[in-house]
Amino acid sequence: MVSIFWADKMVDDIIARVEADPTLQKLVEQGGYFVYDEKTPSGEIHIGSGRGWVIHEILAKILRERGKKAVFVLSSDDHDPFDKPIKGKPEYDQYLGMSFRDIPSPVEGYKSWGHYYFAKVTDKFKEYGMDVELASTGDDYEAGVFNDATKKILDKYTDVQNIFEEIYEKPYEKIPFNVRCENCKKVATTLATKWDGEFVHYECKDGVVKWANGCGHSGKISPYNGNGKFPWKVEWAMKWPSKGVIVETAGKDHFTKGGARTISIRISDRVLGYPPPWPSTATEEGPGYEFFNVGGKKMSTSKGMGSSFAELPEHVPAKILRYLMVRSKPSSVIDFDPSRKDDLLLIYDQYDMTERVYFGKEESERAQELKRIYEFSQIGPILKEFPPQITLRHAAVAAQIASKNDDAIALLQKGDVPAELSKEHVAYLNERLDAARMWLREFAPENEKFSVQETVSSEIKEQLTEKQQAAAADVKTFLEAGDHDEQTLFEEFYKICEKHEIKNSEFFKGMYLILLAKTRGPKLAGLIVAIGKEKVLALLEQA
Ligand SMILES: [Zn+2]
Repeated sequence: MVSIFWADKMVDDIIARVEADPTLQKLVEQGGYFVYDEKTPSGEIHIGSGRGWVIHEILAKILRERGKKAVFVLSSDDHDPFDKPIKGKPEYDQYLGMSFRDIPSPVEGYKSWGHYYFAKVTDKFKEYGMDVELASTGDDYEAGVFNDATKKILDKYTDVQNIFEEIYEKPYEKIPFNVRCENCKKVATTLATKWDGEFVHYECKDGVVKWANGCGHSGKISPYNGNGKFPWKVEWAMKWPSKGVIVETAGKDHFTKGGARTISIRISDRVLGYPPPWPSTATEEGPGYEFFNVGGKKMSTSKGMGSSFAELPEHVPAKILRYLMVRSKPSSVIDFDPSRKDDLLLIYDQYDMTERVYFGKEESERAQELKRIYEFSQIGPILKEFPPQITLRHAAVAAQIASKNDDAIALLQKGDVPAELSKEHVAYLNERLDAARMWLREFAPENEKFSVQETVSSEIKEQLTEKQQAAAADVKTFLEAGDHDEQTLFEEFYKICEKHEIKNSEFFKGMYLILLAKTRGPKLAGLIVAIGKEKVLALLEQA
């Protein structure tokens, strides 16, 4: 059986559904396949939300590949209220209950708190290779995009109440609308008391929510153009007909039976008369996507490292994070722990295998699927020619011998990397070397790290046995006699060990002490070739 890339299967399903439903067909004729996602910019945004963005943008890309009009729009839910005090920032407590778009930015140069945190992620989209159009839910409210749906919902708010009661199995008496108080600007502290067909009557008071106090103001106001907002589950449904959303999935936590999606699809269907977006139907939520767990507790505490979408690329290249999200079916959890031994090395090896399959250098039963994974993992254009692959570990060795990438590439060219390199292959090698340097800095275990010594210290000399010194002298003589490659060096090491009746492990230990001031290191023959004869001879001379 041919294995098919998950997003191709999803797009099959999306198109089949639209083509079977005249209402959806009409919507698509009007606005194309509108793929939508949204996020509250309350603070640092976790990489798990990024997983949803990657899923959505790939679906839109494949729809376009198939000749459909499709766009992916990510909206900042910046009209949502600030609902949790921020640790260590008591000066922000006064804004509790206000929209994120009305709260001052923690960093200068941004219109609001919401604008700052949304920009923090969107500034990274290029690095992640994301093709996204941006929107602001608050701007859409103000521009009147939601006015029609707002009237529909308020006119039929008892139907909305019934849906809540049916699902929660308890009375729901609120009019589901939050006015933005004309006096104190808070949206969370207002209670709507009446909808008269033109105005929402409201009171801003204590006790509406536990975490913010009202100002005591009461009045009436038109609900349109951003004067208020719907609570989240109602707002979710309200946006679908307003924007013409055809596709919108979300994390599986929103898709539990009786959760946000259950409510929103019923409101969409029964109150607004709009078919809920794929993967839901009017009666079934469909599946949400799984979590993206980073590192577990160990990493977040001991390394002081966040797993936010914006900050993770400082520790792991965005390209590899994207690859993880592309290759994993949305129904499976991503458990990523770059500090776990060999985890990143292995992921790079798998990425490289995918690349070999893409370029027809390796066969695989999953070739069709792997080629798609490779395509959608790219940031920018796909390489024109198969690159001179080097493993992350190999790149790390070169990167530790040569502090500049150009020198490291010259070293690699003594091995399997060709002497003539195209511009894109130089860029490829630079990228791999940068990734290796990042790995060495962030996660590589001690036994992968080394630095070539400038001199052999007296402490090191004291540690060397007579046999180790004699063997090292023979290596020196052998190197002086001519130029050698890894293979001839390797063979000579064993002859030297036999001659001096020294165990191989003892011999290697002595050589690593001389070259690296450590008892272990990367493969010795390769290391000697990489460091270069001159420098090795200078160190052996001192031993
Ligand atoms: Zn107020």
